[in-house]
Amino acid sequence: MTTIGHFIGGKHVEGTSGRFTDVFNPATGEVQAKVALANEADLAAAVENAKAAQPAWAATNPQRRARVFMKFVQLLNDNMDDLAVLLSKEHGKTVEDAKGDVIRGLEVCEFVIGIAHLQKGEFTEGAGPNIDMYSIRQPVGVGAGITPFNFPAMIPMWMFAPAIACGNAFILKPSERDPSVPMRLAELMIEAGLPEGILNVVNGDKGAVDAILTNPDISAVSFVGSTPIARYVYGTAATNGKRAQCFGGAKNHMIIMPDADLDQAANALMGAGYGSAGERCMAVSVAVPVGKETADRLIKKLTPMIESLKIGPYTDDKADMGPVITKEARERILGLVDRGVEEGADLVVDGRDFKLQGYENGHFVGGCLFDNVTNEMDIYKAEIFGPVLSVVRANTYEEALALPMNHEYGNGVAIYTRDGDAARDFASRINIGMVGVNVPIPVPLAYHSFGGWKSSSFGDLNQHGTDSIKFWTRTKTITSRWPSGIKDGAEFVMPTMK
Ligand code: NAD
Repeated sequence: MTTIGHFIGGKHVEGTSGRFTDVFNPATGEVQAKVALANEADLAAAVENAKAAQPAWAATNPQRRARVFMKFVQLLNDNMDDLAVLLSKEHGKTVEDAKGDVIRGLEVCEFVIGIAHLQKGEFTEGAGPNIDMYSIRQPVGVGAGITPFNFPAMIPMWMFAPAIACGNAFILKPSERDPSVPMRLAELMIEAGLPEGILNVVNGDKGAVDAILTNPDISAVSFVGSTPIARYVYGTAATNGKRAQCFGGAKNHMIIMPDADLDQAANALMGAGYGSAGERCMAVSVAVPVGKETADRLIKKLTPMIESLKIGPYTDDKADMGPVITKEARERILGLVDRGVEEGADLVVDGRDFKLQGYENGHFVGGCLFDNVTNEMDIYKAEIFGPVLSVVRANTYEEALALPMNHEYGNGVAIYTRDGDAARDFASRINIGMVGVNVPIPVPLAYHSFGGWKSSSFGDLNQHGTDSIKFWTRTKTITSRWPSGIKDGAEFVMPTMK
């Protein structure tokens, strides 16, 4: 049995808490490793290393900091296949999908290679008589990131790449469900030339998170996970004087207008609803066809597609999706499907009894499709985070628009239509952070920023893009006046011994 400790000061350490939790292979249900759960002393050791290493790193020329990321990007590409398998084995997603997870993080590392330009300040000459004014962006010092299980490569890199490129030291507290890829990323950063102590990985659960939130030497906290924990982390970090950006859960709708290309919309729903077994914060979990005819045609198209989903372990390269993360997650999802049936929604495709031969203990859930879901039902309100798509029928565009507008969450949303006017009106009025027009999962690229609205996000600066440079730096503004000095008495004639 493998034991996973922490990565502090550039070395693997065991930790002192004596507490561990199991890391499963979701495809087989077997425990494949034990991961240490840090206590306050483990976290303090990481912070000491980070604090000691940070000033020299901040003083390193930004081009040299960027070169570490150039090398790191190369190492990610060189190690892509191994990283993807390591990720799939703990998460359960297919290997191709796991590569996407790594690549979306790699792209943020590519973005921060431009740090010398991104971190530049502002300058005003002659703000007053003989006065110049300039602003510089200095690192916050030691930052921390707390990440969810569903993107164990991408989300840690969303955080540590800009934080470190800006000259900070960083403590990563990954999900205890799939800690191996984050540990490997930290090793590769050292191989890329990062000084020891600048990127530390502290594994753990609530205990480690609370130690981060109360540690006086950590200035900024970035969190991604479920909404109740995001709210808690935001409040506690702020109470302890830290800046925080906290991203939570989602319930992403896709509006399908009567003029949409229905084949395109159905294919988009399959990928966005069932890819990664629905365990994506940008997964589409609600389809809103407008008009009875659109709805009937959509259900007819989707039903056979969902029934023929290929579900398998990550070792099956033909699989469309894998298992969900834990046995508890599986039970929770099945419980919500039962609840939907009780509430009166029509379960058109029932994946509750799905079993895979040879993988009977795996955490598999078959694809499910509900029709005639209403906005009063629990299955509409809750984030199911599994392979379950709900169809809510709307009679008009306004009725369809009102659904995501009035939902608690505001992460992503999409509209499928051929009508530019409808698309434009939708993008302008919707109160949601990321909008797709004929694009089902509108995840912004690394040079734009990622973040939802409403209960999907707490704090004002998003992940990656220029927002991330602002989040991981503090502005200092210098007003300077140089009194008339040496230049008045300067000798402009060649000094001679006359
Ligand atoms: P989670 O909230 O259970 O865990 C996230 C992190 O918080 C983990 O590191 C975990 O160890 C820690 N944590 C768990 N319970 C805690 C507690 N009581 N106190 C302090 N820390 C605690 O989330 P998850 O199940 O790992 O991830 C799935 C959730 O993340 C979904 O809700 C999904 O929508 C959301 N998510 C959001 C985004 C986004 O960008 N908005 C991206 C990915 C995932």
